[in-house]
Amino acid sequence: MTALTQVMVSTHKDRPQVLVLGERVAPGLVITPGVDGAGRYGGGWLLTHVATGHAVLGCATCLYCARRAAATLIGIDWTRAGADLAGDEQVRAAVQGEAARIVRDCNAWTCEIPDGC
Ligand SMILES: [Zn+2]
Repeated sequence: MTALTQVMVSTHKDRPQVLVLGERVAPGLVITPGVDGAGRYGGGWLLTHVATGHAVLGCATCLYCARRAAATLIGIDWTRAGADLAGDEQVRAAVQGEAARIVRDCNAWTCEIPDGC
């Protein structure tokens, strides 16, 4: 089975979702390329909740940091509905904790990505 899966992602609240290939992280959570409303790549990567197509963290990051941030969120059941996840304090704390710090500290042009990453 490939690590890639098709997923519809939201780009703006008033625009149709865009179909992209995402890299599976956990059931219901994928890494997706950042795209604009026309489906053009933006150069960064996002963690996306599959059921809603919404980005879990607000900002795009480099692929290396997207994978690092995703690893901190593995224990959450991402197959739950978006509203259910949004109302869960433990989910909020996890997303706004280490995962957010990794993304905030990312500088996609200078991140030191280890060999083989
Ligand atoms: Zn980075």
